[in-house]
Amino acid sequence: MPAAASLLRDQYLAQQLGLIGFENSTVFSVQRALERAERQLLGEIAAAYSEGLASGTAVPWTGIGYRYKIRALTRVQEAMKEMAIESRDLVHKALTELSREQASLLQSALSEMLPDSVLDQLKLSKVNLRQLAALVDDKMGENATGSVAKILHDFDELGAKAIPRVQRALESAISDGASLSKTTTAVVESLKVARHEAAAYVRTVIMQTANDSARLMHQENADILQGEQYVATLDDSTCPICGPLDGNVYYFDKGPNAPRPPLHPGCRCYMSPYLKSWRELGLPESIPDVVKQQLNGRRAERITWEQWVTAKNSRLESALGPTRAELFRQGKAKLDDFATRTEIIPLRDLAAARKKTA
Ligand SMILES: [Zn+2]
Repeated sequence: MPAAASLLRDQYLAQQLGLIGFENSTVFSVQRALERAERQLLGEIAAAYSEGLASGTAVPWTGIGYRYKIRALTRVQEAMKEMAIESRDLVHKALTELSREQASLLQSALSEMLPDSVLDQLKLSKVNLRQLAALVDDKMGENATGSVAKILHDFDELGAKAIPRVQRALESAISDGASLSKTTTAVVESLKVARHEAAAYVRTVIMQTANDSARLMHQENADILQGEQYVATLDDSTCPICGPLDGNVYYFDKGPNAPRPPLHPGCRCYMSPYLKSWRELGLPESIPDVVKQQLNGRRAERITWEQWVTAKNSRLESALGPTRAELFRQGKAKLDDFATRTEIIPLRDLAAARKKTA
């Protein structure tokens, strides 16, 4: 019978995998808002262009075209503002839904695992909805201070940043006297960055909300948990920031030093709850033996990133790159020398650090 910690880790993993679909559909909705803004914008540019033509200007963007240019630029700003408002609302709704689901994760995972009679005795605390709403608002609000705050507050800025790009594209098309189709292509191209940024913002804020909501629930139930265990998804894209943390246990009573994934854009790591043993939980001798075996107070056992990545040269190279992999093989660096909690250390800094210690 696997330990409770292993079962919980797998339940959380299933949820985490489900988040990918949720992320995709939210990204998709935000991009549709962006596309609507784009369509409005292109319609306005086309209208300005044909009015220029109709007014008898040989090259519609020149001379009298100035008026149409101003109108088109104003439209850029309006369309981007609408896009930002629509996207914020949409993401806010998505985060609210997500935070509730994540906050009930501990309870649903435990009820999959334990008979009701045992679960009842654990007396789980619930996160109250106001706390969750505050957590989401903290990420979305104008005065938000968390690391995500920056990202979601930047939704407005996404529009703001796109405006000068579109303006530059439009202005250079106009001063070149470009055809409508060339102008359209230039404007669409200038919006591509906004598309990528929007997707990255949404994915990061979703992962942060997911992890923070689950964490809130863990903290509410600190009396039944020893702490949390770091789980890094083991695949070719597991990076040297997260990999070395895989399997680490962070105890609630030993300071607030636990990492808070996501640690970088695209990070899929999470913290899995680490239950106390049935004796520590104060459960009676009369509970079923199978439950006692589960609630043995042991951490989740499985292959760690270090074991996984060092088992094959190709894995080592794809995780670290050839130079770091070679440093590791020669024993000149350890696996956790390559990154801090937030970033991978550049090769030149690594070399400098090695010189200093040599
Ligand atoms: Zn990670």
